[in-house]
Amino acid sequence: SKSEGKGQYRFYDASLHESLKSKAHLKQSLFDAIAEEQFVLYYQPRVDTQTGRLCSMEALVRWIHPKRGLVPPLEFIPLAEATGLIQPLGRLVINMACAQLSAWQARGIPLVPISINVSPSQFSHGEIHCHLAEEIEKAGISASLLEVEITESAMMGDQAEIMAELSAIRDLGIKLHIDDFGTGYSSLSQLQRLKMDVLKVDKAFTSELTNSRDGKVFFQAIVSMAHALGMTVVAEGVETAEQMAMLQSLSCDEVQGYFIARPMPAHDIEPLLARPARY
Ligand code: C2E
Ligand code: CA
Ligand code: CA
Ligand code: CA
Repeated sequence: SKSEGKGQYRFYDASLHESLKSKAHLKQSLFDAIAEEQFVLYYQPRVDTQTGRLCSMEALVRWIHPKRGLVPPLEFIPLAEATGLIQPLGRLVINMACAQLSAWQARGIPLVPISINVSPSQFSHGEIHCHLAEEIEKAGISASLLEVEITESAMMGDQAEIMAELSAIRDLGIKLHIDDFGTGYSSLSQLQRLKMDVLKVDKAFTSELTNSRDGKVFFQAIVSMAHALGMTVVAEGVETAEQMAMLQSLSCDEVQGYFIARPMPAHDIEPLLARPARY
């Protein structure tokens, strides 16, 4: 009835108002947090599947919220992307990773590259390679110590713009990763054109590996395709010994996941750098 409709509308309006208010509030606190640099990078090891050698570590941002403690990225990255705050936040992440490498370098600690996640909107503004170059120079580190991860879906936008930015990053000597592979719709020809160095298979496919015969066949096909295109294959979200054994038998090059190690603060990953051991 009409009155019900009106009531629903009023109710909806009120909750919408609340949610807009809390969104505006979250946006403001995220803005302040960036200005105050209330963030920390956690690092997750990525290791060679056959030898267990540490190849690289992925930087995963956390917000150190004054009241809530450590806030995971999925609670603020989407808002940062929607509001444009991902630009200054992304710059802060690059800055923190370079500063960390520089500090370790000064202490004579053996280094492996840090891979950084880059959002589509950071990417399409075309300044990211400039910022990477500046931060590398400022930190006095080799560009080969940084890697950049871009999701498969991020590469669906303006092809000319994306290709230009990708090659500018590559020209700096930075390796490029396709992240969350298998969740988007890249064609073979696109993969060949983009000339990415590393293909990270989404964790959904890692969990299917030991669940079904199809899961194994699918993974095997990805490995063959990636190798044919000269790419290194990384399995994400490796959680069990069974998955690990399967990935070894499928010639997947590198692995990352809780089975090896969880993301951890810089201080905790130092022993793994100083003494590159098996997992
Ligand atoms: P991602 O790039 O796919 O990162 C992998 C996520 O999987 C991380 O979650 C990691 O902690 C988690 N993970 C690692 N191993 C396992 C495992 O064995 N099992 C399971 N279930 N999960 C595992 P996290 O740290 O919460 O990050 C979530 C997402 O937030 C990232 O997904 C990435 O898309 C985004 N993100 C993180 N840091 C940044 C950043 O600095 N910039 C941008 N733009 N995005 C970031
Ligand atoms: Ca990633
Ligand atoms: Ca991923
Ligand atoms: Ca993801």
